[in-house]
Amino acid sequence: MTTTDTHCPYCSLQCGMRLRPAPEAAGEVEVLERPGFPVNRGALCGKGRTAAAVLSPAARLTAPLVRDRRGGELREASWDEALDRVAAGLSAVRDAHGPDAVGVFGGGGLTNEKAYLLGKFARVVLRTANIDYNGRFCMSSAAAAHRRAFGLDRGLPFPLEDIARTGCVILVGANPADTMPPALRYFRELRENGGTLIVVDPRRTRTAEQADLHLQPLPGSDLALALGMLHLVVADGRVDEEFVTRRTTGFEAARAAAMAHWPERVERLTGVPAGQLRTAVEMFTGAPEGMVLTARGPEQQSKGTDTVSAWINLCLATGKSGRLRSGYGCLTGQGNGQGGREHGQKADQLPGYRSIEDPAARAHVASVWGVDPEALPGPGRSAYELLDGLGREDGARALLLMGSNPVVSAPRAGHVTERLRALDFLAVSDVVLSETAELADVVLPAAQWAEETGTTTNLEGRVILRRRAVDAPGGVRSDLSVLHGLAGRLGVPHGFPEDAEEVFEELRRASAGGQADYAGISYARIGAEDGVFWPCPDEAHPGTPRLFLDRFATPDGRARFTAVSHRPAAEEPDAEYPLFLTTGRVVAQYQSGAQTRRVPELARAAPGPFVELHPRLAGRLGVVEGELLSVSSRRGRAVAPARVTDTIRPDTVFMPFHWGGVGRANSLTNPALDPTSKMPEFKVCAVRVERAAAA
Ligand code: SF4
Repeated sequence: MTTTDTHCPYCSLQCGMRLRPAPEAAGEVEVLERPGFPVNRGALCGKGRTAAAVLSPAARLTAPLVRDRRGGELREASWDEALDRVAAGLSAVRDAHGPDAVGVFGGGGLTNEKAYLLGKFARVVLRTANIDYNGRFCMSSAAAAHRRAFGLDRGLPFPLEDIARTGCVILVGANPADTMPPALRYFRELRENGGTLIVVDPRRTRTAEQADLHLQPLPGSDLALALGMLHLVVADGRVDEEFVTRRTTGFEAARAAAMAHWPERVERLTGVPAGQLRTAVEMFTGAPEGMVLTARGPEQQSKGTDTVSAWINLCLATGKSGRLRSGYGCLTGQGNGQGGREHGQKADQLPGYRSIEDPAARAHVASVWGVDPEALPGPGRSAYELLDGLGREDGARALLLMGSNPVVSAPRAGHVTERLRALDFLAVSDVVLSETAELADVVLPAAQWAEETGTTTNLEGRVILRRRAVDAPGGVRSDLSVLHGLAGRLGVPHGFPEDAEEVFEELRRASAGGQADYAGISYARIGAEDGVFWPCPDEAHPGTPRLFLDRFATPDGRARFTAVSHRPAAEEPDAEYPLFLTTGRVVAQYQSGAQTRRVPELARAAPGPFVELHPRLAGRLGVVEGELLSVSSRRGRAVAPARVTDTIRPDTVFMPFHWGGVGRANSLTNPALDPTSKMPEFKVCAVRVERAAAA
C-alpha cells in the first residue's frame, strides 16, 4: 500500500510521520510512525497521532461562504463569486483610503511558500506596508534578542540532539512535556548522560517535575533572576574571561547592571530563595558545556527582549555560547514559527530575513519580483498595533487574514473582536469556521497539510517537506491558488504561481545572500537528506546545523552583551486586582484550538478552559474543585471551573488560552507591548478571582 512520508501539521518540532490510505475509509488516511526521521524518531504526541481527523470534511469548511449584508447570515457561494467579492472589498478600500488602509494578517502555521507569497501579495499587489502575523505573538522577543546579541536569529543555533550531550540546561518558561512531548527525550537523555536540568517556571509543570532543580519565580520576574545569576557568576569569579575577551563586546556595562542585582534583592523581586539561586549558578557553571533555552514564559512580556538578553548575557559571561553543545536557543511554538518569520510576513522584513529598510535588500528582492524598489512599501504596523487600529481613521479598514484566529489568540481579545467588527471588509482563509472566520464578509475554505505540498522550517532551522498524501475535499483550495486568483483580479496576472515548488524556486532566489539563505535547498534535496539546515547558499553546501562556532553574525564577528536591568511588569497586582494571571497551553490542544477542539479524542482529553489555583488561595476564597470562577482584569472577564493544585504559586492563577467564549483567557491579557519586539504581555497581568455565583 502506498505510504507518504510527511510532517505533523502542528508545533515547531514538525515531527516526521507516515501517512497511508485508511483501509476502511476510501479517500482518508491514517497516521503511522516514521522512525527514521531524526527529530522525533517515530514518537508522536496525541495531537500528531490524531491529525488525520482534521482532514475529515465533517470537521471543516468545504465551500466558500459570503455574507450579503452586515449582520446577515453567511451563505455558500462559488469560488468565482467569493474571490470577486474579496478583490472588490480590498480594492474598494484601497481606492478610497489608500493602500495602507488594507491590512494583511498571516500565520506561523503557513508554509514557507504561503508566507512568502502572502508577503509578496501585500507589497506588490496591494502595495500596503501593513502586513504582520501571529508569530509576532510567539517568538518575536527571542528573535529580537537573538539578533541584538548574535546578529542573526535562528531559534536553535544547534540541532536538538546536542541537548542530550551538553552538561547543564536551564529551561526558562518552557514546558515541552505539554507543548512538544517527543522533545522530552532529549532532556531525559541529558540526565541519563550525567547532565543536569534546571527549570524556571511559576508552575511546577510536568517538565519541572523532571528537573534536578526547579526555580519558581513570580510571573514577570525572570529578568531579575537571570541578572541575579550573572551577579553571582561575577562575584564568585566564574566569568570565562578568555571567551569574553576574545569573542564578545559590551561585558563591562552588562556586568555593572548585574551587580545591582545581588541575591537578597533578587530573592525579594522573584520569590526565589538566594540559596536556590546559588545552587543554579553552581550547576550551570560547574558543567563545561551548557545551554539556556527559553520559550514563551520570559518572551511574552513587555520586557521580553531584555529578559532574553539577560539569559544570553549569562551564556556569554560563562563562555557557553559559540562552541559545541553550548549556547542560547528559543523553543519556537508554531509549526512554521521559524520559517514564517523569514520570508516576508513580518511588517519589518523581506524574504531571506532581510530588513525592509535596507536599500540593498530592497533592490535584491525587487529585482526577483520584477518591480521598482522605490515602489516597495516600508515597514508597517506590528500585529497588535495593526489589530488595534482596525476600522479607525488611520488604521486598516479592510483585512485579508490567513491561518490565524485572533478572536481567541490575541491579547485583550474582546477589544480585538470589536476592532474586527469595525472593519469595512474582512476576508478570512481558514480550514474551519473559526471564531474569527465567523465575523468575516467572505470565508475561503483552505486546503491543509496532507492535501498539499510545501516546506516548513522547524525550530532547529531545518527546512523540511510536507508532501501531499490525499485529495482535498471538493470545494477547497490552496492559499496559493487564492493568492493567484486574487492577484489576477487585482491586475497582476503574473508572478503568483499556484504550484508550491515553483513558488519555492522563486523563494530560493529571493532569499539568496540573505541571512536565511535557502539558495542551495531544493525539494529533491530535502527529500533525500531529511531536511536541510539554513543558511545553505548553494547546492554544494552541506547546510549549517550549528551556527556561531567560529564567529557570530555581527559585523566584527563578536557576540554583543546588552546591559539590562529589572523592571516590573506593566501591570502588577494591587488591592483591586490582587493576583497574577499567567496563561499557557495544555497537552491535548494547540494554540487557538481551532483545529484540535474539533478532534473528538482531543476534545475529550481537554474539553474546556479552567482556572488553576493553589489550595491556600482556594481556601481563602472558599472555592472547591470544579466550582465556576469569575476571573476579571481591567480588560474583561472570563468564567471557568476551578482546578485546585499545589503546583502553582499561591499568588498566581493560570488559564490555558485555547478556547473562545466565556472561558476565553485572552479576554483578560494585557496588550502592553515590548518596545523592541512589539510582543504583548500575555504572560503576566493582574486579576481578581471570585466564585462566579458571587460575582
Ligand atoms: Fe505534532 Fe508537535 Fe506533537 Fe510532534 S510534538 S506530534 S509536531 S504537535
